[in-house]
Amino acid sequence: MQKSIVSIVKGTDADRMVEQAVDHLGGVKSLIRPGATVVIKPNGGHEAGPETSVNTSPAVVSAVIRLVKQANPGKIILAESSAIGCETFACLESSGIRQAAEDAGVDEIRDIKSDDDLVKVPFESPTSQIKTVDLPRFLLEADHLVNVPIFKSHVSMVFTCALKNLKGVVQDKHHYVMHCTNLANAMMDLGHVVRPDFTVVDMIRPMEGFGPHSGTPVEFDCVVAGQDMVAIDATACRMTGLPIEKVEYFDAAREKGLGIFDEDQIEIRGNSIDEVRQELYLPYLEGFDAWPEYNIHLEKACSTCQGLLSFTMSKLKALELYDENSGIDIVLGRHHKVPDGVEVGDNLVLMGDCSMALKKRIDKAGGTCLHIPGCPPAEPVPAWVIADRGKAPSDDESAGATVDIRARHEAEEKIFKRWLAEQRRA
Ligand code: SF4
Repeated sequence: MQKSIVSIVKGTDADRMVEQAVDHLGGVKSLIRPGATVVIKPNGGHEAGPETSVNTSPAVVSAVIRLVKQANPGKIILAESSAIGCETFACLESSGIRQAAEDAGVDEIRDIKSDDDLVKVPFESPTSQIKTVDLPRFLLEADHLVNVPIFKSHVSMVFTCALKNLKGVVQDKHHYVMHCTNLANAMMDLGHVVRPDFTVVDMIRPMEGFGPHSGTPVEFDCVVAGQDMVAIDATACRMTGLPIEKVEYFDAAREKGLGIFDEDQIEIRGNSIDEVRQELYLPYLEGFDAWPEYNIHLEKACSTCQGLLSFTMSKLKALELYDENSGIDIVLGRHHKVPDGVEVGDNLVLMGDCSMALKKRIDKAGGTCLHIPGCPPAEPVPAWVIADRGKAPSDDESAGATVDIRARHEAEEKIFKRWLAEQRRA
């Protein structure tokens, strides 16, 4: 059996690291044909600045574009479909990706979300409930796809790296359905029909903690590249200390027969895993089973609200407010009715703009509940709504209250950071 090749390059210069990583795969000219149309897919799906590591760093995106240009392609298109509730161009702008791509000489930037020239593509032997996906024609007709994710912790899949980044080639309706089914299986089905020619992973400052949106960047100083997304993801997990035998993703890969993840079957080039290994705090292995004292109804919510809730639960623990609020119901995402067995009142918390319709229905019926607005809601409001039960801090806009809110936030942040450091050491 032929081994999958994955390259790891540690360094400080993104251009050199990306070039060396791809050289270990045979070099960009062996991967991209002259005159070809090349689509580059970063992770640029959330509105957040480059310092947050929420999106692929502009330095890696521009390094990849400059490298691809060495192969004399006909056209380079950067394409993305942002997360539900986000606007793609606003995300590319705030992340610095748009500017970096333009400076590096990209020919076109496309928002897959608003593309209406779509082709229905069937999933072959699907392992999830999804049977087809609508993909943009320009992506299917491109000669090459280059996948440029960042490694982050991810509430729905424990981590996001090469394969999960492909979710940004589908539109909102598919994003939504994928989150309402087994996401790992759905990603394998998608990864079976959308196969990048190669992937370059930004592990310069990957995200630990409460990703994909509220985590913490960590200096890691690596770029990882390869053609087998599963082998890349397995390697990134080994680099960060994530036990792959406990991550559902790899069972789904085995079921689908997609890629290789056995260590013996992966040839590492460049730096070894041992040379670069650094444990990250990746807290989602247990999923929401980690908080059995709360009744959490999240089946219809996207990963951003799920991640924020996970973050909020940890924050309540850190602030020693967890136990006293246990037993309440928290509902995320689009629910048409109050989940079975749930009572309305101050012990029912609806989170996010998606649940606004349900709040209106409860109001109309004369019931009450607490609602945390926003898409996603702003941190630290969820923890405060749960802890204060209806006394939303933003209700009082007097100058004194604003100062109190800031002081409270700063004091809580200090406690939370100390708690996080303890979890990391544990
Ligand atoms: S409100 Fe929350 S669940 Fe709904 S789209 Fe926004 S972030 Fe996702």
